[in-house]
Amino acid sequence: MPTVSAAQLRERAEQAAAKLAACDLCPRRCGVNRTAGELGFCGIGRRAVVASYGPHFGEERPLVGRGGSGTVFFSGCNLRCVFCQNDDISHGRQGREVDEAQLAGIFLAVAAAGCHNLNLVTPSHVAPQILGGVGLALVAGFDLPVVYNTGGYDTPETLRLLEGVVDIYMPDYKFSDPEPAERYLGAPDYPIVVRAALKEMHRQVGDLVIDDRGVAGRGLLVRHLVMPFGRADSEAALRFLAEEISPRTYTNIMDQYRPCHRARQFDELARRPFPEEMAEVYAAARRVGLTRLDKPAW
Ligand code: SF4
Repeated sequence: MPTVSAAQLRERAEQAAAKLAACDLCPRRCGVNRTAGELGFCGIGRRAVVASYGPHFGEERPLVGRGGSGTVFFSGCNLRCVFCQNDDISHGRQGREVDEAQLAGIFLAVAAAGCHNLNLVTPSHVAPQILGGVGLALVAGFDLPVVYNTGGYDTPETLRLLEGVVDIYMPDYKFSDPEPAERYLGAPDYPIVVRAALKEMHRQVGDLVIDDRGVAGRGLLVRHLVMPFGRADSEAALRFLAEEISPRTYTNIMDQYRPCHRARQFDELARRPFPEEMAEVYAAARRVGLTRLDKPAW
């Protein structure tokens, strides 16, 4: 649950919304005037677009508990992953345009459904709208932990506006090397950006704290998707987490890569990772000293 006051939250929402006039919310820094209807790389204007919302039971165990994680899927994205599994939402921009009052209504509906948290999926390009919506929801009694479920392409400046509002940061750490980051995300600076973002997120919330019920209330949870042929350079990502964030970084090493969207245009991405490739990444996690993996069998 946000710890900033309603007045502080209003101020943050205003500061964030001011960025929309020459948008530099994310590292793309498109400079477009979203308040006047101009669209930048993410394709979303002044209002957020929500594709769907409701309890979700497919997220990490500490988010799901018994009541589920209250996901809100935002349309548009500031990355262009060639292997995107939600292409219709991220790039097709399906969904309903909502103002901040409607967004607050969605957040309250998620709370009323008995979810353990509000899980904001792909939020980076709509941080101002989220701050406005959370502010209105708070006044109406909203009290869930807020999860920022991001691709990791976030600026420290925007993240600082979220301090005391976001309880759990759940970023991806996709690539450690600029070459695959450019080839598969269209963002050669992704490795530098995600490392700075991870540091800022951890500074704000620390390691993941899980209560007696097995439910997370605060902290950092990192996702790393293993790619075929070692294209995600997994050991470098895991080593960074262990050495420069914390060996107690709660990390989900994900095995669900499959060739979606445009991935089959890249020969090296046209298959799932083999079990032995997954085993090697789990071994690397042990080697670098990570102690908390979201994997029962490792
Ligand atoms: S949020 Fe969208 S418009 Fe703003 S800088 Fe990022 S991609 Fe560009």
